[in-house]
Amino acid sequence: MILVSACLAGMKCRYDGNDTFKQDIFDLVLKGEAIPVCPETMGGLEVPREPAERVGDKVISKSGRDVTIEFKKGAEKTLEIALINKIELAILKSKSPSCGVSKIYDGSFSSKLIPGNGITTELLMKNGIRVINEK
Ligand code: SF4
Repeated sequence: MILVSACLAGMKCRYDGNDTFKQDIFDLVLKGEAIPVCPETMGGLEVPREPAERVGDKVISKSGRDVTIEFKKGAEKTLEIALINKIELAILKSKSPSCGVSKIYDGSFSSKLIPGNGITTELLMKNGIRVINEK
């Protein structure tokens, strides 16, 4: 079983109320081979919501709201699902402050990318789960 970002599977859980649908990911879920998760909504954030970016260990929304607690809660719930289902691989959405792998936005809301992982990606990796992005 694989863990996948829910927005890649077509769920409209992105901050702007849209998805990032990928047919291959959707097919994995349909075949019962992947479990969709959205750490941000599982952490209690609403749809739609303000965009947020990582600033060091914190996550801050565009208007300056500290949403680190919600992001961490979502990451912990995602890890719980991964451990219960003995997940070894996750395919998560690139550049997201939760799901991003290797590259994330720099916290300035200017579309600038820096090396780094999303909060959920980081926690999954720390627990031995391999994480790649959809590309
Ligand atoms: Fe998609 Fe992950 Fe953002 Fe949820 S938290 S909308 S699954 S990128």
